[in-house]
Amino acid sequence: MTSASAGGPLHQRTLAELADGLGKGEFSSRELTGALLARIEGHGETLNAFITVTAEGAMLQADRADKARANGDAGPLNGLPIVHKDLFCTKDVLTTCGSKMLQDFVSPYDAAVVERLSQAGAVMLAKTNMDEFAMGSSNETSFFGPVGNPWDTRLSPGGSSGGSAAAVAARLLPAATGTDTGGSIRQPAALTGTVGLKPTYGRVSRFGMVAFASSLDQAGVITRSAEDAAMLLGVMAGIDPRDSTCVDHPVPDYVAGLQKSVAGLKIGVVRQHFDEGLDAQCAQRVRDSLAALEHVGAKLVEIDLPNIGLSVPTYYVVAPAECSSNMSRFDGVRFGHRCDDPEDLFDLYSRTRGEGFGAEVKRRIMTGTYVLSAGYYDAYYLKAQKVRQLISRDFKDAFANVDVIAGPTTPTAAFAIGEKTDDPITMYLNDIYTIGANLAGLPGISVPCGFVDGLPVGLQLVGPHFAEETVLSCAHQYQLLTDWHTQGPENFA
Ligand code: GLN
Repeated sequence: MTSASAGGPLHQRTLAELADGLGKGEFSSRELTGALLARIEGHGETLNAFITVTAEGAMLQADRADKARANGDAGPLNGLPIVHKDLFCTKDVLTTCGSKMLQDFVSPYDAAVVERLSQAGAVMLAKTNMDEFAMGSSNETSFFGPVGNPWDTRLSPGGSSGGSAAAVAARLLPAATGTDTGGSIRQPAALTGTVGLKPTYGRVSRFGMVAFASSLDQAGVITRSAEDAAMLLGVMAGIDPRDSTCVDHPVPDYVAGLQKSVAGLKIGVVRQHFDEGLDAQCAQRVRDSLAALEHVGAKLVEIDLPNIGLSVPTYYVVAPAECSSNMSRFDGVRFGHRCDDPEDLFDLYSRTRGEGFGAEVKRRIMTGTYVLSAGYYDAYYLKAQKVRQLISRDFKDAFANVDVIAGPTTPTAAFAIGEKTDDPITMYLNDIYTIGANLAGLPGISVPCGFVDGLPVGLQLVGPHFAEETVLSCAHQYQLLTDWHTQGPENFA
């Protein structure tokens, strides 16, 4: 394990430290971008973390940022590096969604997240590998192959934002965007020892984010510190008329909010989260971190989420249902792959989709179509929507008594590539602690909270709607007490 210090090599520094260095003129964005591109070139292939590297565009953006700074016109993220999960549309650059279906797709516009970050001066270096259309928990469903976990490349970094998490953990980049429909930011963050923030549903525009399950998808970030996540969220959050579910809610100064102490903060500890499914050593790391927060004045309160045990089956009805509808646009006519020489329209649809989608996406489409079909709709889809309401209500009741809910992010540390691919249900259970926040639309963060047999594990904090300030400040205060987040994998020092 290696530890970073503020003045160390550029690739070891956080966004906040890099912003400081750029501001003081210690180095230019061109120098920084060049150094990180060299690291990507050296390590990117070992991990298979990237689908596209945008070296040329990055140097142009870096030069523009340096010029803006010289003119006294620097945006809040001026010259700082970022990579985007490959389901954010990027103008003139491939957006594949990890799928053969979109392997040649170039979007005519930028996603809102990409647009906002670049307007703030951020420099995009690459698009990251991911599970196909964000369906997966291990990055193994990607058409472009699995991603290695920097802590041990035989292991999975989690998914679906596996490339983003691996890149940040390996100190190739300080920050990456991701999306979280059932845990795809928080779970890979936990398994790679990084910070993963999923904001409230509606906090960040979904415009230009290729849809998987529209009522659950939310954009967020993977970084190494809560402070960096706060810097990015401040730029990404806010109303966007192009996304009708984006909420017009004031965007506070998240970085200023980090200073709030946890003294008196009521932290709910969910009884059901410590049931038999949780690895004993992971449970211990989480308990230790709760004790550390209690030591500085937080109050731990045992709580119940009576219906949380139904979150995985509920999600696996709702998400595939929405997925089956969203995936219908990939028909060989409008977007992406088209089969050769179709005989008729039916042949065009069936061969295009048969060739373009991988097994997991097909499984979701079939499940989704089934639960929405006449005769099964009431029994599955409608029932799942009702249970979703019960789960939301459980959280609402809990937040009447506590400020934040804390617990494990995942049931175990990282697992081997190939270990769970034959058994989708075991794979689905990886998201048992994260899915609840998506069903209820709540903000959540995962922060590194220790190691089990040399592999990182995460502490998850979930807050009420639009309480990103609370989860970020609690995470930041925890990071002031601990140094788990400064420890990186030795092979990527
Ligand atoms: N692992 C979950 C799934 O496969 C969640 C994915 C996500 O959050 N995008 O659906």
